Amino acid sequence: MNIPAHPAVLRASLFPDGRLASADAPLLALQREAGGDLGTPIAVPQIAAIIRLSQRLGVTISRPVVAAAERGDIDMWVRARPEGSGMALSVIDWRERSPAAMPTDPAARESDIAALAEGWIWQIDTQLRFQMILAGDDVHGALPADAPVPGTPFSAFFDLRSDKEGDMAMLRGLAQRRAFRDQLAALVGDDTHLFRLSAFPLFDMAGQLIGYRGAALPVEQAVVAPFRSESAVTLYPADFSKRLDRSLRQPLGRIIANADTIGAQLDGPLRPDYADYAQDIASAGRHLMALVDDLADLQAIDRPDFSVVAEEVDLADLGRRAAGLLGVKALDRQISILAPETDCAVNAIGEFRRILQILVNLVGNAVRYSSEGSTVRIVTEQGHGEARIMVIDQGAGIEPADRERIFEKFERLGRDDASGSGLGLYISRRLARAMGGDIRIGGEAGEGARFILSLPALG
Ligand code: ADP
Repeated sequence: MNIPAHPAVLRASLFPDGRLASADAPLLALQREAGGDLGTPIAVPQIAAIIRLSQRLGVTISRPVVAAAERGDIDMWVRARPEGSGMALSVIDWRERSPAAMPTDPAARESDIAALAEGWIWQIDTQLRFQMILAGDDVHGALPADAPVPGTPFSAFFDLRSDKEGDMAMLRGLAQRRAFRDQLAALVGDDTHLFRLSAFPLFDMAGQLIGYRGAALPVEQAVVAPFRSESAVTLYPADFSKRLDRSLRQPLGRIIANADTIGAQLDGPLRPDYADYAQDIASAGRHLMALVDDLADLQAIDRPDFSVVAEEVDLADLGRRAAGLLGVKALDRQISILAPETDCAVNAIGEFRRILQILVNLVGNAVRYSSEGSTVRIVTEQGHGEARIMVIDQGAGIEPADRERIFEKFERLGRDDASGSGLGLYISRRLARAMGGDIRIGGEAGEGARFILSLPALG
């Protein structure tokens, strides 16, 4: 299909009976490729579904669409609006996926399909926690033995790897709320199992991102050499964590996934107040899930035998990962996160996933507690025998008198909203100290907050 250069907004109009009355050239070309034409009903199923919904509800419906064209998929954002007795269609963000990203060769397609039978399907919410995990082929049950239960943070299960160009398709996809393909990932603590992750964003009817659904396909082990050796440690007694999963995480995960499905009206339109209730249930469920995670961590780090792994890590890389993981949350508040440059490397000694957990907490707080439209900076410093990574925001900051108190269990400085538990900084400092480092608060009174994580470094 040859799609000519086109304006930023493509338009089409429909007769009252749903037949296409007029369309800009690229849309008409797509309609013809799908077997329709001017004067016939819309032949692209995803666009036809949006039109039907808008017609039935009598309101404007706006959604992302991926249409399959001969040359590859086309991403677009479609808005259908009742106009007179017909419908008006506007399409923006028309982007053809580069054919290189799509395996056009039938053999590659076949192997994709075969791999999918061995892979599994996952869904995460915007907090990057698993909501659902399904074996691709139920009969053979391809799920790993210790598959993540709903509520597990994505980063506690998958360790993302950059490709040869240093790119991470998933982080780029999340930041832009777009689909991504072929993100390489290992299981945390197990370099021998690698997966290729591909997923697409899920939006609700209001166009709000509610998560991602995708597939994890196992990669032949020989494809990528192990990146770092790490002896996995189990921090929770097996029984405690199992009980927690069974009695809390699984039912909560089901509640959240069901409430999200209802709230997003994926099965059809609902009365608006019902949809709002469903969204309230989902968000209350998420807070509870976060609390369960915090309590599990608390239980683990307060044990006398709590230990961490000492491995060589790059703090700048960890800063970039934390920024990537929180990109969507930041975008919701129009906050920009400035991460260390890609050529910056700062060595330190600590446990990779625990440092990432601390940084996600610090950057998450910075995004939550500073004002919309501001900037959060992640800055690294290499010292002798010590490395530092700072998270600096432009919010109200923390008064000098509160700078110790804030690390106490359940201390929230008088906040009583449901968005936190007051455990994040307590856990983060305990983790930092267990790794031979610390977390301090710097900066002048009256400035935004400046959290400084220091860790031992070589040399
Ligand atoms: P939570 O965020 O769940 O309340 P934390 O232990 O992470 O728990 O933080 C404790 C309290 O410290 C927060 O409730 C908030 O009042 C304050 N705080 C943390 N980070 C920041 C920040 N970047 N700016 C201002 N206040 C902060």
